[in-house]
Amino acid sequence: MWSGTWLDREGIAQRARQRLAALLRFARAHVPLYQRLHRGLPPASSLSLADLPVLHKSQLMADLPASLAASGLSRAAVDAFLSDPARIGAPLADHYAVWTSSGSTGVPGIFVHDGDALAVYDALELLRFRGLLDALPGAGPFLASERYAMVAAIEGHFAGIASVERLRRTFPLLAPWVRAFSVLQPLPDLVERLNSYRPTLLAAYPTVAELLADEQQAGRLRLSLEEMWCGGESLSATTRAQVAKVFGCRVREAYGASEFLSIAWPCRHDRLHVNADWVLLEGVDAHGRPVPPGVPSHTTLLTNLANRTQPLIRYDLGDSITVLPGQCPCGCAMPAIEVQGRCDDVLSVAGPHGAAVKLMPLALATVLEDDALVNDFQLLQTGQRRLVLRLGRAERARADAACAALRAYLQRLDLPWVGIAFDPAPPHREPASGKLRRVVNAVRAAATA
Ligand SMILES: [Zn+2]
Repeated sequence: MWSGTWLDREGIAQRARQRLAALLRFARAHVPLYQRLHRGLPPASSLSLADLPVLHKSQLMADLPASLAASGLSRAAVDAFLSDPARIGAPLADHYAVWTSSGSTGVPGIFVHDGDALAVYDALELLRFRGLLDALPGAGPFLASERYAMVAAIEGHFAGIASVERLRRTFPLLAPWVRAFSVLQPLPDLVERLNSYRPTLLAAYPTVAELLADEQQAGRLRLSLEEMWCGGESLSATTRAQVAKVFGCRVREAYGASEFLSIAWPCRHDRLHVNADWVLLEGVDAHGRPVPPGVPSHTTLLTNLANRTQPLIRYDLGDSITVLPGQCPCGCAMPAIEVQGRCDDVLSVAGPHGAAVKLMPLALATVLEDDALVNDFQLLQTGQRRLVLRLGRAERARADAACAALRAYLQRLDLPWVGIAFDPAPPHREPASGKLRRVVNAVRAAATA
């Protein structure tokens, strides 16, 4: 991996080709799903990626065991594991990591990774994202004086929290310096806990980082950060600049998924480089045709070259990316991308004593996904005391449960006067981009219009 980081374009492509051919041979020999999908196709050595069928989440989830190489794992064992919060970050059957994706596009996905894949993700994280190479030879202070905090949805087997918990289990001595904080707790509690923990590295969604920057600026939060890591949503230039200014620290973008933990890392020019020797990304348009550099894709097909247990080959990730044209000034030949992630709004509702209370979109989405099991939703703020919920057709039967889950959450935050109304209209997509924003501050939109 160390040598791979500085290969030229042809060298990277060659490594990827070799790994892809080996993966294809393996998947066709051992994974029923690919035996079915690739039936009748020519041998792996004479195929390019674009000749292969696209894999959708619905196909993967329709028969999970068929997507696994003979591992002896049953659907029942996986489901039992996922339903137990005490096992977040623990291995399944001593060997496997199982992560779920939040279901922003329909049903949640389940992804099983083997020990070899985890070793690749860990090495990518350490050598490229954390820049262990850059720090050498004076790598002494690396890790030694850092306190890491992640603020996230921690009540499920998501890749982020599961990786934090795996680190704590694997290296118990490190555990006091690695902690996760729930995004569902009231903001004052979160601020208090972060103040007493005093992290030096903090990972959060951009909208969470933005709220924490407000708290820091108001003097309630008092952190001395070396770096803020942002991922999971679009990181706008404004948010990046504001967070960097308020905390006086470097803001680094991260791009990973439950399908592949560390897809890209930011170089010293803050460009996201894809780990293209281990994960292949194809940006395609709505008809599945490749889009040229500089053009945002409709979706992205991911091929994971590190994981044999559940091979993902041309898997429809649902993200929109833009491959940046030209060479990055840092000299790395791995392709640089921009990710057009979720663009949700922070909501600002009436709090006690007239003060505004901000609601994080990640927390609202987590409540709806985990407590009410709805994924295809749109939540709009239409007034200081009023939220409106829309649900996709397939999930409309759960409207009462979804409204009840939101009311219970607002009750926990001491905001009983914020009303929830159900709007039978389906979620509205942005007319220009077709993108679904799930949490929308319609009050702010009306004010700026
Ligand atoms: Zn670069």
